[in-house]
Amino acid sequence: MPAKPYQVAVIGGDGIGPEVVAAALQLLQATGVAFDFRAYPAGDDCLAATGVALPAETLQGALAADAVLFGAAGNTAADVILRLRAELGTFVNLRPAKAYAGVDCLRPATDMMIVRENTECIYAGHENVLTPEVTIATRVITVAASERIARFALDWAGRHGRSKVTAVHKANVLRKSDGLFLACCRRVAPEYPALKYEEALVDSVAMRMVLDPTQFQVIVTTNLFGDILSDLAAGLIGGLGLCPSANLGPAHALFEPVHGSAPDIAGQGLANPTAAILCGAMLLRHLGEERAAARVEKAMEQCLASRETTADLGGKLSTSEAAQAVIKRLG
Ligand code: ATP
Repeated sequence: MPAKPYQVAVIGGDGIGPEVVAAALQLLQATGVAFDFRAYPAGDDCLAATGVALPAETLQGALAADAVLFGAAGNTAADVILRLRAELGTFVNLRPAKAYAGVDCLRPATDMMIVRENTECIYAGHENVLTPEVTIATRVITVAASERIARFALDWAGRHGRSKVTAVHKANVLRKSDGLFLACCRRVAPEYPALKYEEALVDSVAMRMVLDPTQFQVIVTTNLFGDILSDLAAGLIGGLGLCPSANLGPAHALFEPVHGSAPDIAGQGLANPTAAILCGAMLLRHLGEERAAARVEKAMEQCLASRETTADLGGKLSTSEAAQAVIKRLG
């Protein structure tokens, strides 16, 4: 009897989102793994057409699926992706940054995993206008979320052959909130005696990442710092078009490129599908399809090495041609 297909909710969203997601779907299909893809609307265009950026039907589809593949949302990102992350209970945003052979980049030795807390910090949404000239945003940091993310990062490091985890913070200024985050990391670290645990201020980490990213293997940090440092890491390895991410929780998983909707290049076949294709590989691995995940990653790496890529990486291929090139190399 054929294997029951995995149900994947597909939310292309805005700008280049649908283009890069289409490329990732082609790759997933080409692996031969059985999938049942169901497309759902969300984002700016959806808001304009229906009056809501994240329809109930889309949310239900995401909750019912084995995994979600998400493209990008433009101005409605906060209403779409932040809400999806919250509703799906995905408390981790896993953001790998790895330099690839054949891609010109600032720091070819970069290979790190940024483990970003995904539910609180300044993104908790408590922002108020006190007077027309004064606004206030509340930063939420809790013991439960901080211990959970620290444990996830240390556990991930141990399971993936990494020897060191760096907790990144700004506790010298944010004494209460990052003080609490750091205290939680310190409490959890001794549960993993085989790993080296260190702490570093976010500003110094930003500089050290540029000078020598090999100092970092796994970074665990709060929501805002994780967001910023992962874009910095993208800059080190050759750009946003290369970086996938996974939002993981106890019951759900959503995969999305780190880049946004990039309206400047949308609809022209210019978008680099690498990040989305690598999201597909992360999705496969999450579903336990390790072999298929490794095949996709290897084929993608071969294309990057031989410069069968889009123009942002110096190649000549369109988005869909780049996806086809990867499919041709699937072993
Ligand atoms: P958003 O508001 O949705 O975040 P944005 O354009 O402000 O969109 P990004 O989408 O993250 O931010 O991208 C910034 C720039 O990087 C884009 O304008 C585009 O030129 C480039 N870029 C991003 N993603 C890709 C990609 N997949 N392929 C090629 N270039 C990209």
